[in-house]
Amino acid sequence: MAQATEQAIRSVVQQVLAQLGHGSVNGAGNGAFQEGDWGAFDCVDAAVAAAQRAFEQLAERTMDERARAVQIVKDICFEQAEELGRAELEETKIGRLDHKIEKLKGIRGIPGTEFLKCDAVSGDHGLTVTEYAPFGVIGAITPVTHSLPTVACNFVNMVAAGNTLVVNPHPSGKRIATEGVRRFNKAIYDELGINNLVTIIREPTLESAEAVFQHRGIPLLCVTGGPGVARAALAAKKRAIVAGPGNPPVVVDETADLDNAARSIIKGGAYDNNLLCIGEKEVFAVECIFDQLMDAMGRHGGYRLSADEIARLTSVAFAPPKEPGGHAVLNRDLVGMDPDVLARAIGIQIPAGTQLLYGETNTSNPFVPEEQMMPFVPFIRCRDADHGIALAKEFEHGFGHTAILHSNNVRVMTKMGRTMNTTLFIKNGSCLAGLGNGGEGYGSFSIATPTGEGVTNPLTFTRQRRCSLADGLRII
Ligand code: NAD
Repeated sequence: MAQATEQAIRSVVQQVLAQLGHGSVNGAGNGAFQEGDWGAFDCVDAAVAAAQRAFEQLAERTMDERARAVQIVKDICFEQAEELGRAELEETKIGRLDHKIEKLKGIRGIPGTEFLKCDAVSGDHGLTVTEYAPFGVIGAITPVTHSLPTVACNFVNMVAAGNTLVVNPHPSGKRIATEGVRRFNKAIYDELGINNLVTIIREPTLESAEAVFQHRGIPLLCVTGGPGVARAALAAKKRAIVAGPGNPPVVVDETADLDNAARSIIKGGAYDNNLLCIGEKEVFAVECIFDQLMDAMGRHGGYRLSADEIARLTSVAFAPPKEPGGHAVLNRDLVGMDPDVLARAIGIQIPAGTQLLYGETNTSNPFVPEEQMMPFVPFIRCRDADHGIALAKEFEHGFGHTAILHSNNVRVMTKMGRTMNTTLFIKNGSCLAGLGNGGEGYGSFSIATPTGEGVTNPLTFTRQRRCSLADGLRII
């Protein structure tokens, strides 16, 4: 009771200070209404309260001001990509510097306020307008594979739609995510006078994630991560937009342009050392072009491992399942490592500049069923395209995430599209084409698979509200 009273007094004092536009409850003294540290908080309640106040302030501002907040985040990501990308790699120790930088620069292409729309119906009985309104404070859980890019992408989509967000980052990427949040808030405050459009838990834990899931001040969750957190979010008692795991298969048939197929598999599978949830993870190639495809891989930056080398790599990358029929246990120390680190782990040297390791396996090799996130891609021979599609279906595990085909046969394209039933289905390009890099369309770092929202955008984070005027305002 006493604690509740103290909290209420504190909240009133904060509101008064905010309205006066100066002062600080913890001595920032720079005119900022500064609680936390430019959005970094130790406690979920305080982070949600600050984001709620920011939401209320944002609601009073114009669309132009929202667009400026979003643009500030895009500009920071673009202009500071080298420094921030390097810091992300140093902290997480997974992936590739060139791609860490490219991902941050790519935030410029994430859709913002221009994506919002309003629908109108005008008829005999007047005018009805449907508008796309914000939810409020959204709880975001972000992965280690793209720590700051996911925070920035979620910010652009969510704030463009008028929301604010509280982030519980992956513990292994918390410092870079927090640094980004601090820079975003400070720059937005300097230009617009609003702090805490995004807040973040400085020391995230499973308990703080759970507190975000349960918090009454959070009406919507957006969770980006692997099977464990996807299951937890789907069990949450509030609406969750879940961007879950994948294990994207590639099918290559006899009508494919094999050099393009090899170039594409290398571009996608090598990207950030295969950390992408959409990245090519296993290839099913038809027998009659199998050897030619393997040769083409070698011409475009791949290094082929022999059967013996694959066996050695498999034994360092996985431990046997803990129970019969269970999952092989992934050696997390090799996730996101460079190809030459994998090569050294099995005692071989590979040419400098090698993008991706590859080789022939059968489907019982754990690299096929497991989402291994390493720059080694297994190739499996299949009888024909139908056989390849059947195997792709089996090893995608029903995640409904991403599937890739190299073919010029429309029947095969149609059959695979229908069979796979995935959120992304890419043909004759790398996986990145599905997110607008080498293909049409916009990108996102949160692709909502089990909950069905698809490639998230500002409209994903809106509530539709209808406003009807009976028998009036039809002006024609
Ligand atoms: P991860 O599942 O280990 O962690 C993701 C986030 O969830 C982290 O913030 C982590 O702290 C939190 N978390 C984990 N278990 C939790 C639980 N039980 N309760 C609450 N929070 C929990 O994943 P990762 O290694 O950071 O990222 C890689 C995984 O994410 C891959 O499976 C990849 O496919 C997936 N991913 C999907 C998308 C998409 O858009 N669909 C995007 C990026 C990554």
